[in-house]
Amino acid sequence: KTGSVGVPILDVKLGEIYDEVLRRNPGETEFHQAVHEVLDTLGPVLAKHPQYAEAAVISRLCEPERQIIFRVPWVDDSGAVQINRGFRVEFNSALGPYKGGLRFHPSVYLGIVKFLGFEQIFKNSLTGMPIGGGKGGSDFSPKGRSDGEVMRFCQAFMTELYRHIGEYTDVPAGDIGVGGREIGYLFGQYKRITNRYESGVLTGKGITWGGSQVRTEATGYGTVFFVDEMLKTRGDSFDGKKVVVSGSGNVAIYAVEKVQQLGGTVVACSDSNGYVVDLKGIDLDVLKHVKETRRARLSAYVEARPHAEHVESGSVWDVACDIALPCATQNELNGRDAATLIGNGCAIVAEGANMPCTPDAVRLFAEAGVLFAPGKAANAGGVATSALEMQQNASRDSWSFEHTERRLADIMRGIHDRCLDAADTYGTPGNYQAGANIAGFIQVADAMLALGV
Ligand code: GLU
Repeated sequence: KTGSVGVPILDVKLGEIYDEVLRRNPGETEFHQAVHEVLDTLGPVLAKHPQYAEAAVISRLCEPERQIIFRVPWVDDSGAVQINRGFRVEFNSALGPYKGGLRFHPSVYLGIVKFLGFEQIFKNSLTGMPIGGGKGGSDFSPKGRSDGEVMRFCQAFMTELYRHIGEYTDVPAGDIGVGGREIGYLFGQYKRITNRYESGVLTGKGITWGGSQVRTEATGYGTVFFVDEMLKTRGDSFDGKKVVVSGSGNVAIYAVEKVQQLGGTVVACSDSNGYVVDLKGIDLDVLKHVKETRRARLSAYVEARPHAEHVESGSVWDVACDIALPCATQNELNGRDAATLIGNGCAIVAEGANMPCTPDAVRLFAEAGVLFAPGKAANAGGVATSALEMQQNASRDSWSFEHTERRLADIMRGIHDRCLDAADTYGTPGNYQAGANIAGFIQVADAMLALGV
């Protein structure tokens, strides 16, 4: 039982709580993994503060406040009725309304939504902003679907979801498979059904209809700002660094952009069909054109950059680099990949995606002294900028790009420092993983104690 994911949890009490999570949530392996990763680092906190155990705060945190599963019927272009499954897990509202994205991907099931929702609690807490944790999505695949099909699916999804969300209740945004187009169709349907222009009900909106500057760029930019802070602790910078970014979606594209602005060279990126190596540095305009405008496969990149190579076998982590930014999806970087990166001299790994590194990989990085930033810290810029969007909506204001980007950079510095402070205080100096979990946990736990059972 205990230890079915990673190594056994040493703290007896936390081990029991983890076993209970396994028993109550059979088959939800990604959720088990996310819970294990957090509980594994909380021993020193419980030792110092017995009040959390007395109030069963951790057991309460592991059980979502509410889980909604619904049918999403829609009509495809051929006139056939399609059925998908929709989810919204409202995990924890101690710090604010539930906040977290929607993922549309065929792999989505309750275990994925719960892992993401659980991560979101600590991530959102770490930002220092008043947002609780939630996540949702569907097993619908937007790939290969026409614009009309995506619109009808989004409308059907919102026709059920609208009754569960609201500016003060639950504020969804995007995640994999849900970008500006989808948020537009979702918001349009919410407005139609409720007859309310309730801007604060969704984030990731378009700039002309209630969205925030920098929201599109925020997750990727934020990850790179976070790494910049890590580099600074070593008196270093991005200047001249070789970087590999996995993925080529929203997070990856804007991570590439910011690395280049800070003087680094991104030599490879990937999609689900392979990866591209461009030793002269990934050409951002070509990448954006292929992925955002054409919505094509990454292999099309080499049409415009014939010196670059598209590789279908192996892994993007085979490409040597100083800094690795996994920005694709969960468990995309395993122990073997970690060993390769370490062998090639990689010194920093920061997760732009949610839980992209397996427990084996994280352990190997720690053993090798590779600086490792977990997603709940490094990719928190996305949701933090969502909170900035909510602020602008609440005050019916809109801020400039420069102002918003400065706020994002400040927030990432704050998260970075909070991680290091907590790691220091609880006996694991320099360990961003433990620091992120502990700092994120304490703030939610204190709010839960204050609000009562
Ligand atoms: N899906 C993003 C995340 O994983 C953003 C969520 C949001 O903006 O609410 O944090």
